[in-house]
Amino acid sequence: MSPTKPRVFSGIQPSGELHIGNYLGATRTWAQQVAEQKEELIFCIVDAHAITVEYDAKELKKRTLDLAMDLVACGLDPEKCTLFVQSDVREHTELAWYLATATPMGDLGRMTQFKDKSEGKEFVSTALFTYPVLMSADILLYKATVVPVGEDQVQHLELARETVRRFNYRHGEIFVEPQPRLSKTPRILGLDGQGKMSKSKNNTIALFDEPDVFWNKLRPAFTDPQRARKVDPGRPELCNIFTMHKAVSSEDQQKEVVDSCTGAKWGCMDCKKMLFENFNRELVPLRAKRKEQTPEGIVKVLGEGADKARAIAQGTMREVRAAMGIGSGAPVPGG
Ligand code: ADP
Repeated sequence: MSPTKPRVFSGIQPSGELHIGNYLGATRTWAQQVAEQKEELIFCIVDAHAITVEYDAKELKKRTLDLAMDLVACGLDPEKCTLFVQSDVREHTELAWYLATATPMGDLGRMTQFKDKSEGKEFVSTALFTYPVLMSADILLYKATVVPVGEDQVQHLELARETVRRFNYRHGEIFVEPQPRLSKTPRILGLDGQGKMSKSKNNTIALFDEPDVFWNKLRPAFTDPQRARKVDPGRPELCNIFTMHKAVSSEDQQKEVVDSCTGAKWGCMDCKKMLFENFNRELVPLRAKRKEQTPEGIVKVLGEGADKARAIAQGTMREVRAAMGIGSGAPVPGG
């Protein structure tokens, strides 16, 4: 059975603190969709993805619950969306194995994220290589048509769409092709300006950093290298700080940034101060909501979320198993 209301699915790894790149690229959009309530929304903390690289088990457990509390504080109201942990719904890993039969190795080897994360590593796990197959399973299990993600995940989504085509050709029309939905700011660079901001790269500002910590990290952040001195005109379109202004500052303020930067009327510090103030204003209610969350409360939320997700996942798996001729249960349809 296919869902009637458009279904949206997205995931986030509990591999470190929720950072402003995650927020501007993904979770802020998720919260807006939760507020609008136009679609059925499923959000998943993808812990099975976080174990594809070296990790600490105790730390992972803590990060999983912390991230869930962060997400609720961002606006993922559990009354209005489904929020759960991936490995609480075992159908994700089951479907990943079946989808692996429809995913060519050559495609996996071409994934940019795999190349980035495996480069220079002595040990590269098979799980890191097959990560995109599990991501396809995450989405297809719920027959989600829309996947709000940052730019880094677009390539994985294209692979998921190809898997749908190959799987459906072999086994019948089971899955639907998911489309990415990008925010206005789909790629936030790290504070060092070297590649994307990422939990695994130590180049982030945590969303829930206290204001002074937030500012101390933002202050020395990389800007347009052409602006060596205040009198040198800058190029906002190339500057990570301006990218963030696009998300949190008003249209008038963005015009002011462009005018002051290209006209060398202010220094990067002035520009960063404006950004900081706007971020800070937006984060006041989120910080307050974060303080209300408790580990006991969130465990209950995640348990209920997993029950809702599992009910959908099990329905899909019944269809998949029958179509693939897997197990001793239902016969292959039409067979
Ligand atoms: P990370 O690389 O920080 O571990 P995840 O893989 O958990 O991030 O991604 C969670 C969501 O945040 C995804 O939708 C991803 O595309 C988005 N995202 C991650 N980093 C960025 C970034 N630097 N800019 C914009 N979006 C991002």
